[in-house]
Amino acid sequence: MTRVADDFVLPFAIEGAEARGSVVRLGAVAQRVIDGHGYSGVAARLAGEALSIVSLLGAALKFDGTLTLQTRGDGRATMVVADFVTPGQVRSVVTVDPKAEPDAPLLGQGTFALTIDPDEGQNRYQGVVELAGSLREAALAYFEKSEQIPTRLQIAVGEVQVPGEPPQWRAGGIVLQRIAREGGTKTAEVNEDDWVRFGALMATVGADELLDPKLTAEELLYRLFNEDGVRVFEPRPVRFACRCSQARVDNILNSYSDEELDDLRTPAGAIEAKCEFCGATYGFERAAAAS
Ligand SMILES: [Zn+2]
Repeated sequence: MTRVADDFVLPFAIEGAEARGSVVRLGAVAQRVIDGHGYSGVAARLAGEALSIVSLLGAALKFDGTLTLQTRGDGRATMVVADFVTPGQVRSVVTVDPKAEPDAPLLGQGTFALTIDPDEGQNRYQGVVELAGSLREAALAYFEKSEQIPTRLQIAVGEVQVPGEPPQWRAGGIVLQRIAREGGTKTAEVNEDDWVRFGALMATVGADELLDPKLTAEELLYRLFNEDGVRVFEPRPVRFACRCSQARVDNILNSYSDEELDDLRTPAGAIEAKCEFCGATYGFERAAAAS
């Protein structure tokens, strides 16, 4: 069986045009995150979409750091969080309101925030837009408002059945951005025509193309942009990894008062903290010197 390598972001540029982008394909990573949480339905879809978005954006960072997507809203999913740590670690968690009506809006009213924390040197950056329907629409609103870069984006999440194997969650996406050529003019008419045409091509990208494990990212790009010529760059691997650690838990819980800690005790009197991203559990004992 020929099966393409999964879990990467593939940057590309359209030859001679002021447009570049990337394709993300998440197989084992999407499966690990969605299945690890036991998600299905809305939570699975949102986690996969969020992973795709942070992978596409994080892989484009020009410095080391962390990119975080976070929504807060009054819809069925009250919170979606995903982050990307350079060069390619991702994780995600989705909070679904168990009391929400099944026909309630997916994300509802609220905010969509993207935060970029460089490891050193530069300042933290945060862009916030209002939630607008889907994560994809919110991400597009972010590009328009915060970055002012014309952007086309398609993302998809689904369970894909490979013969002889259990169904696997997969997530994928493609982003295309119009970039100003160095020293060039932004308003040349031919470029506008190109951009409109590229946008029309991007609108044709279906979930099957983004998720099909037998269609490579290169084949998808060729299908879309072969008339123009498309150049691909080195793929960036993406993997699931969590940043939780005993030291981080100790650091947080040591700042709690004794009363606050007592509230966390199990009936047996132990204090345990569970990482909401990966499910790891950490015990905690206040150091004798701290009390
Ligand atoms: Zn963790």
